[in-house]
Amino acid sequence: MAKVFAIANQKGGVGKTTTCINLAASLVATKRRVLLIDLDPQGNATMGSGVDKQTLEHSIYDVLIGESTVGEAMQFSEHGGYQLLPANRDLTAAEVVLLEMKMKESRLRYALAPIRENYDYILIDCPPALSMLTVNALVAADGVIIPMQCEYYALEGLSDLVNSIQRIAELLNPSLKIEGLLRTMYDPRISLTNDVTAQLKEHFGDKLYDVVIPRNVRLAEAPSFGMPALVYDKQSRGAIAYLALAGELVRRQRSSAKTATA
Ligand code: ADP
Ligand code: MG
Repeated sequence: MAKVFAIANQKGGVGKTTTCINLAASLVATKRRVLLIDLDPQGNATMGSGVDKQTLEHSIYDVLIGESTVGEAMQFSEHGGYQLLPANRDLTAAEVVLLEMKMKESRLRYALAPIRENYDYILIDCPPALSMLTVNALVAADGVIIPMQCEYYALEGLSDLVNSIQRIAELLNPSLKIEGLLRTMYDPRISLTNDVTAQLKEHFGDKLYDVVIPRNVRLAEAPSFGMPALVYDKQSRGAIAYLALAGELVRRQRSSAKTATA
């Protein structure tokens, strides 16, 4: 049964989409079956997976409103090696259309139920807002991966996100938890980075991933070729960091499964 992770942070430009694409490809490299869901109307994860968002016949929008099945909307990312539920601007309408629907917060969860067993990991790329789309991602997910830059204001926005996660866990999805915090565009030469890291450790303890993602131009270039960094330049520091993250994620999964059965 797939583990479902929402990659969320209501701030834009923190590395959510970059993390989705490169973590998905890295998990595929370790022989996991992966589905990536683009839940952002900007469609960046779709384009970065090598799928043209302008020419979609079916998208995640159609799936959410019940007009097509997951199977009909699914595409394969050739370079990434994972399956993709793509998105484009149509998805902006979902915010309004969903409000009129029954079980509006659970549409994604129900859509995924029949296909969860086909995957090891399902990653959801969230939009940069605590919107109805993000609520759908949090209701569908087992855990939230929070990418963040180590800057002063990063911590301020974080409490809103953590509160939202808690509220959704109380009301709609009791099994939801924070899976991990990921430091992105990491530069250890900046002293604020170390201050923020110390604060994150204090608040979140071992939820903070040991692996950090460095600032690396290959990670920024790869999406315009529809590739993960792993294919675009597999020696790059960015590609190597995301492989290490996939390793840490899988190891944590194994050790928490062991604790659960012990
Ligand atoms: P989000 O999805 O949170 O808005 P993105 O993943 O789109 O963030 O990243 C924002 C911008 O920063 C993009 O142009 C992306 O290519 C670039 N970027 C993301 N992570 C890195 C990194 N580790 N090093 C360099 N550039 C990065
Ligand atoms: Mg994004």
